[in-house]
This record gives sequence, C-alpha cells and structure tokens, in this order.
Amino acid sequence: MSGRDPITLADVLAARARIAKDAVRTPLVPSVFMTRKSGRDFLLKLEIAQPVGAFKIRGAANAIARLPAETRGVVCCSTGNHGRGVAYAARARGIKAVVCMSSLVPRAKVDGIRALGADIRIVGRSQDDAQAESSRLCAEEGFVEIPPFDHADVIAGQGTIGLEMLEDRPDIASLLIPLSGGGLAAGVALAAKAINPKVRTIGISMDRGAAMVASISVGRPVEVEEVPSLADSLGGGIGLDNRLTFDLCRDLLDETVLVGEADIYYAMQVLYHEECMVAEGASVVGLAAVLSGKVALPEGPAATILTGRNLDMPTFTRIVSGKPVTLGGTLLEGRRYGA
Ligand SMILES: *Cc1c(COP(=O)(O)O)cnc(C)c1O
Repeated sequence: MSGRDPITLADVLAARARIAKDAVRTPLVPSVFMTRKSGRDFLLKLEIAQPVGAFKIRGAANAIARLPAETRGVVCCSTGNHGRGVAYAARARGIKAVVCMSSLVPRAKVDGIRALGADIRIVGRSQDDAQAESSRLCAEEGFVEIPPFDHADVIAGQGTIGLEMLEDRPDIASLLIPLSGGGLAAGVALAAKAINPKVRTIGISMDRGAAMVASISVGRPVEVEEVPSLADSLGGGIGLDNRLTFDLCRDLLDETVLVGEADIYYAMQVLYHEECMVAEGASVVGLAAVLSGKVALPEGPAATILTGRNLDMPTFTRIVSGKPVTLGGTLLEGRRYGA
C-alpha cells in the first residue's frame, strides 16, 4: 500500500486477519437508556475492552505486522493511547519499541507506557525535542516510526472496527465516530460505506481545538490552538502536511458535530450511572452529541464507539459524583447526576 493508493475494504479485511491475535473482537451492545433517549436502537461498540484500554491497538498492530523482518524496532512520540498501543503490539511480536517524550510528561504516564514493555527515552522539554529524537532513531539507527493516524496501515487497522460493527448489525443506519486526527473516522467510514453506502457517518469533536473540523470547513489542513478538554485524547493537530486522513474524512464523513465540555461531563455521568461503564471523555462524544440535541439521527439503528478508558481517576470520580472540575485554568461547574 503506498501513500497515494486509496485504501479499500480489502485492506481492512487483510488488517483484520493480521491483528486477530493482538486486538479483541469487541462486543456491540444495545444501550437501553440511549435507545429510550434517542428513539433509535442505540448500540455501543466497546473498544474500552481492548488490551491497553483503547482501539489504537488495532492500527498499531496492523502497521507493526507489516514491517519487514529486519526492522530494528519501532518508535513513536505519543504518551497517550497510541503510545500504549504501539508498546503493547510491539511486545506481542517481540519487536523493540521506543517511546520518545519530553521531561514534562507526568510520571504516571511514563510508568504506564514502561509497564507495557516499551523503552522510554526522555529528551528535552517539548514535544518537538521528542519528535527530533524519534526522527534521529529512524535516520541513524534503523527504527521505523509508527504515526498515530496519518498512515494507510493505521487507518486500515482502525477500519476493522467498522467492519465488525456492520457484520454484527448490517441494519446500522448511522455511526457516531469520535474525531481527532481522523484515522479512526477515515477507517470506520470507509469500511462501513464499502459494505453499505447508505450508512450516515458523523464525526464528533469537542468544540474547542477541533483541528479536523476546522480544516474541513476551510478546505485544507489548518492548525488550531490546543485547549484543555475532558476529551483530552481528541486534542492535537492533523499536521499541515496531512497526506491521507484529511481527504478521507472530508470525503467520507456526511457531517461533523461539535460538543461542549458540559455535554461531555454529562455523557460521562450517563455512561457510568446508566450503563455502569468507565470511559474517558473522548469516548462519550457520540452520546454527548445525541443527549445535547446537537445531532439529528436518521431512522434506523444508531451506533457509537466507546474508544477508550484511560483517564485521570481523580477527575473521573469528581465527575461521576457531580463535583466541579478544573480544565487548565477554568472551572467547569459540577452537577449531581439525576438532580
Ligand atoms: C486517538 C483517539 C481518538 C481519535 O482517533 P483519531 O484517529 O485521532 O481521530 C478517539 N478516542 C480515543 C480514546 C483515542 O485514543
């Protein structure tokens, strides 16, 4: 697969076979509460049940499985779910993984990635310093960088989620897909529309710092200011030199929707109190869009992807008990669930 070839359903099917030992085929479960609220059969795809607690294992495992046997090792700069996915998938295949990060990354995140078997390289005081070390490892020591979203094998890997959903429920009419760099949305939308072109695909981001949505609206990749959000896994840019996900998301998403921090706060409460599930803010933006009335669903079953469950537990316990939380410098008002 070269950068310019379109990614097809065949690539997603091949990815599925490649990652079967590393990633779990997760369940797609009905939500009684969301079905009542939305008036549609409402389904949740439980990527929170993946090893490492997020779907990123799929794309990472697919990209790593396609590397030539002589590869020295893999490297990435993510300290979030992508870093965890790369660390886990590399260890499962006996490949060395190095995660480059700055000295400002919190201790808990460093320890979490190290526990998954990756080598940690701490360089400088910024993400740019970490990126420079990663590039050096690739240029001088034969490592291969695994990017978090803008890579054909990563997109095909994430697309296996859409394949599984449409296999389990061929009658799905709409898909609510959390959207950041767009590897997930591109892969899921391309697989789902290849199976049923009528599926309505809706990408959802938080209303501050949504780089893909801003880029689609002006017609080219743009940078946006990053702002602290409960959906922290949706932060970050799409790259001004974006090769794949910008075009794919622009062409394959029927709609994009933005949700606010209070909507995300409430949706995290709903998932916890109604479904007894723990998920991070990025996971619940699909629920938030529906519950806040920001999206109109077509007739027929609707589904969203609970993308991950790696969260800051003190913040989470404050949210589910209705206490206020601070995001960067600003205070988000609390509200008891059901009150
Ligand atoms: C990475 C991530 C996303 C967004 O995926 P993209 O491919 O960057 O759009 C959503 N939710 C979680 C939990 C993630 O880790």
